[in-house]
Amino acid sequence: MSTEKSLVQGLVERIGIEGSLLTQKVEGKEKYVINEDIKNHKDAIKLVLDALVDPNHGVIKSMDEISAVGHRVVHGGEKYSDSILIDENVLQSIKDCIVLAPLHNPPNVIGIEACMELMPNTPMVAVFDTAFHQTMPKHAYICPLPYELYEKYGVRKYGFHGTSHKYVSYKLAEVMNKDIKDLKIITCHLGNGCSLAAVKNGKSVDTSMGFTPLAGVMMGTRSGSIDPSVISFLVEQHGYTIEQVDELLNKKSGVLGISGVSSDFRDVLAASEEGNKRATLALEIFYYKVRTQIAAYAGAMGGVDAIVFTAGIGENSSITRKEILKGLEFFGFTINDEKNSIRGEIQEISNEDSKVKVYVIPTNEELMIARDTAKLVK
Ligand code: AMP
Repeated sequence: MSTEKSLVQGLVERIGIEGSLLTQKVEGKEKYVINEDIKNHKDAIKLVLDALVDPNHGVIKSMDEISAVGHRVVHGGEKYSDSILIDENVLQSIKDCIVLAPLHNPPNVIGIEACMELMPNTPMVAVFDTAFHQTMPKHAYICPLPYELYEKYGVRKYGFHGTSHKYVSYKLAEVMNKDIKDLKIITCHLGNGCSLAAVKNGKSVDTSMGFTPLAGVMMGTRSGSIDPSVISFLVEQHGYTIEQVDELLNKKSGVLGISGVSSDFRDVLAASEEGNKRATLALEIFYYKVRTQIAAYAGAMGGVDAIVFTAGIGENSSITRKEILKGLEFFGFTINDEKNSIRGEIQEISNEDSKVKVYVIPTNEELMIARDTAKLVK
């Protein structure tokens, strides 16, 4: 960790379904791929550890070289505003949050338990996606519903992608050579999931995802925030079940739902260029949602010093960045087209004389998790 150099990157896909595989990439070596049945997350973790110590493809000689494991955990509820060393109580709290994140926390728990079983003497750390947003003021996170729903059931805005919003806002301050305590930053994490955060003096004061990662701006397959009456209308008037509505809002809406083409921006941008009107409409709605959210957060903070784009779309799509920012020039920036043509690297894309700075900063959630983990086990 003294050099923060990544030794190896890997991915396990299609766990429990046909065609499961592990890929591992070590700098200077050929990509190592294992195609075999991976029944569950425990088998997946076992395969990951075996690959790390593999004499030909691995990067360490033995498991003893692993000092700690950092786990990304999506929901930490109100309990955790920072990363924490995992013990039985913490593990139970993560399980208690399953009701708040039924899709995400169960596999997180499986991953932690598998690692604990396979490496019983190695410390484990949980890094929560919700933690960075725990600094939001009550007026930002309480939903305008009967207050008892918050007190009894924990219904409130939690916010997600916290590790990413924190990483890019702190990195921005470093790149701008400014103290983060003097900055009002709007971070736009635009990937498969999309969220924006208003980061004032280094603290998240609002974010667009809510009680779940369904809220906020439109996304690849998620609707983002809509009038909640649409749900009862579909159920009562058109016979949808709650499960169908849930699936519709999470998996069939957003850019995919409007365009009918794909949830992947590359496909939708290509279809739009070929004249597909619904693809163009999907993009226009997306640009509009993100643009108006940026404007709202400038209002929330009483101004803005810098806007940051990150994640798959934010880092790679110059046209998306340009279209989102159209109409916001009154904040005090102009975009430099040549600088904006970059992909996946740190770059100011506003012209030098801009009062408000616009940057692309690739996110690095893994590094944040590694840093927190190293800090806690030291
Ligand atoms: P992420 O969730 O951060 O991995 O982002 C994934 C998404 O980034 C994909 O679904 C694509 O829609 C988008 N993406 C990646 N590369 C590009 C690109 N060159 N242009 C537009 N969108 C891209």
